Parts: sequence; structure tokens; C-alpha cells
Amino acid sequence: MSENIFFIIFFIFSSLIVWAWLDIFRFLRKERKEPSLPKELAKNHVVVVRRDNFEKKNVKIKDLNKFIEKSLVKMHKDMLLKAKKKLDDNIVTVSNINELTNAINNRKVARARFCCNSSCENLLKGKIQGVRTVNISFDQPKVSGKCFLCSKDAINEVLFGKNY
Ligand SMILES: [Zn+2]
Repeated sequence: MSENIFFIIFFIFSSLIVWAWLDIFRFLRKERKEPSLPKELAKNHVVVVRRDNFEKKNVKIKDLNKFIEKSLVKMHKDMLLKAKKKLDDNIVTVSNINELTNAINNRKVARARFCCNSSCENLLKGKIQGVRTVNISFDQPKVSGKCFLCSKDAINEVLFGKNY
């Protein structure tokens, strides 16, 4: 009698295990057969995210080429403006060596009237370690006044900076 109960329980238990395995296999087969498409693709549109400002837009697939072209142009303009603004915000106009030293110590770029003589630049490099000419713009108005360092006539407005 107890043997019968044992076999019945054993039969029920093993059937449950087989049923569970069959269910797992069925689930795995279903997963392989039906790769799930993103929801937006099923609706013929995609979500486009700009990597510079994380702006998201829903775009129809048929409009995607034009949208990407326009976005790249706009993204280029925006990034250039942002970089120019960051540069402009970090330029300080100086008129003597103390102001230039302060600007450089505050990790700014200093704009100063300069004679452009190499002897004057070497003098500056001796006074502030690591300072160098970072830019002499081609597009600048005629400069009048004296060099901030040696008091000779200035030739250009020059940007001085330091690599960190
Ligand atoms: Zn000078």
C-alpha cells in the first residue's frame, strides 16, 4: 500500500519536472523565433537622440535622411557657437604684466597689445613659467598703443595662455 503511494507521488513529481522543462524549452524556442522589434520601428518611426545635448525626437523613417542631414548641420553650428562662447568667456583683456599673471593663474587666456619682438616674448616666458603665445588673429583691426611689457609700439593684440 505504501509502495503504491510512493509511486503515485513519484509519478506526479516527475510529471511536474517534465512539464516545467517542456515549458522552458517552449519559451526559449519562442524567444529565438520572434525577435522583438523596437515598438517605434513597428510604427514606422524611430527615436533620434542628439549626442551633444541629448535632445530626443520622433522621426518617421521616410523622413530620416533629411532629418539627419539637417540635424548634423545644426549640431555643428551649435557646438561651434558653444565652443566660441566658452573661449570668449575665458579671455581677459590685460594691460600690464600683473594683470596677465593674474589671468594666467586663474586659468584664463589673456589678450594684450604686444610688440611681437622675440626678445620681449622671451622676457615674458622668464617671468611666467609655461606662458606662451596661443594666437595672433589675422582678423584684427589696426592696433594702436604700447606693448604691455616693454612699452614699444604694439603691432598686434595677442592671446597668451598656458598649457595645463
Ligand atoms: Zn614688447
